Amino acid sequence: MSEGTLIVYSGPSGVGKGTILRPYLESHPEAVLSVSVTTRAPRPGETDGVEYHFITREEFDRLAKSDGLLEHAEYSGNCYGTPRAAVERHIAEGRDVVLEIEVQGAMKIRESFPEAVFVFILPPSYGTLHERLAGRGTETPEAMEARLRTARFELSHAAEYDYVIVNDDVEKAREQLGAIITAAKCRTRNM
Ligand code: 5GP
Repeated sequence: MSEGTLIVYSGPSGVGKGTILRPYLESHPEAVLSVSVTTRAPRPGETDGVEYHFITREEFDRLAKSDGLLEHAEYSGNCYGTPRAAVERHIAEGRDVVLEIEVQGAMKIRESFPEAVFVFILPPSYGTLHERLAGRGTETPEAMEARLRTARFELSHAAEYDYVIVNDDVEKAREQLGAIITAAKCRTRNM
């Protein structure tokens, strides 16, 4: 049985990553979205074990020290990491795994899994991102300012990914993501 494909999926906060990815996952039950650990507090509507495993800083440090994370990074004052065991098991079982992670973590994965596919979602403009983040209303003004600063940093790394998708039309962006993953799975280096 051939191994699954690791898909690293990034883009600044508020760019619409989830909206683009969700239908792909729904129509491809063989693909799994890795559930990260984070020290951030759950937002209203988030459930432990679904969007994230919400853990303490002590638990996070313990996991990181014991090599339990494939990568980890700090983002807007909170720690995020990809649990190693589940990803390695799914890939070995031939399932595709999507890591929805920020840029620093993605670059670490680039070193340890060069065969992974790297996809970055761009907003049509920086202004659109500002509006979308404000419209979401889940952040305090300080947290939003921090996220916009981080977004500027992330946008400057887009060219390091294999593919970029501009989210100016969500249906087109969804099609492009599907096409990218399909093409990646047909690569000769997957044989
Ligand atoms: P949020 O707090 O909005 O859910 O996520 C903030 C950022 O952390 C997003 O860019 C998200 O993709 C990223 N992120 C989520 N999980 C992980 C992870 O396991 N590792 C890394 N490096 N980033 C993550």
